[in-house]
Amino acid sequence: MAFSELIGQKIAKSRLGSALTSDPGHAFVLVGPPGIGKKSLAREFAKGLLCSHPTEDGGCGTCPNCIYVREHTHPDYRELLLPPGEKNIKVADVRTKILSDVTIMSQIAARKVYLIDADYLGEEGQNALLKTLEEPPKNVVFILTVSDESRLLPTILSRTESIRLFPNTEEEVVLALRKMNPEILPEEASLFARFSNGIIGYAVKLSESSWLTDAWEEVTDLLLQLPELSRTELMTKRYSFFDEEKEHFADILSLMEMVLGEMALAVVAPDSDALREEAKKDKISKMVKKHAITMRKIGLCSEALTVAAKAYKSNGNYEMIVSRMLLALKKGVM
Ligand SMILES: [Zn+2]
Repeated sequence: MAFSELIGQKIAKSRLGSALTSDPGHAFVLVGPPGIGKKSLAREFAKGLLCSHPTEDGGCGTCPNCIYVREHTHPDYRELLLPPGEKNIKVADVRTKILSDVTIMSQIAARKVYLIDADYLGEEGQNALLKTLEEPPKNVVFILTVSDESRLLPTILSRTESIRLFPNTEEEVVLALRKMNPEILPEEASLFARFSNGIIGYAVKLSESSWLTDAWEEVTDLLLQLPELSRTELMTKRYSFFDEEKEHFADILSLMEMVLGEMALAVVAPDSDALREEAKKDKISKMVKKHAITMRKIGLCSEALTVAAKAYKSNGNYEMIVSRMLLALKKGVM
């Protein structure tokens, strides 16, 4: 692994890379939402800091330092993370695992590196760390990670260099997902990426549960069957799905918008590369042809979704919102 093998985060990687090839400074804070990849990047940076021949792309990967970091056995590298079952990192742990260790000389590498998950470091823990950050021992580098800078005391922030991690693009999230799980279907990777807000960790979570893919199948089936469904079917069997997914209604609406987008693509550019696998793409184009779906009809359906989204946001009666939406969709495709 090197920086270039981590997906996205060009700005952060460039700053950390240049720190590796100059005097790195003594304390960094990687800031970004949960799941964005702060720890992966911090570990790569730590490896580069300990490596005997670092480049701007991180550690060499082959020297003993890099190997020990990879095997989690480097004596000059420590991580202070949330212990299982705890709510916070204990101040006693800050003292024993960090403060009493920083003064001891490094054993193999030219310096010592500490990674601290500051999301779980309370005010007391931060204060304990403060003095060391004010007068850092030589050849010690601290890397803190935090999801929200305001969790840190101003005195900590003023003694560290903040490096921000930004949401990834959809393409980057797809790449990351496929790299982690080469067996994931491209259409599913795209779906998870779209719902991930650019956060790879969240996309991974989505991919571990079948909820999103199941709901996608359900709403695709609903929209494709819509012209043929009776009013009764619509208001009973199909309604019950929405009734069960009340909490996820906003996501369901987004999924339905996606399917309408696929239908629109089948109308205006039937030969383009769609998101879905061939079989589903075929079903969509058949339905569009069979029921003479036009952009106008798709527009009416999309409007029905917008109306429902607005009413849901302003806490309207859910049953009424869904019923009206289903009927408006049905009317839209006819
Ligand atoms: Zn190395």
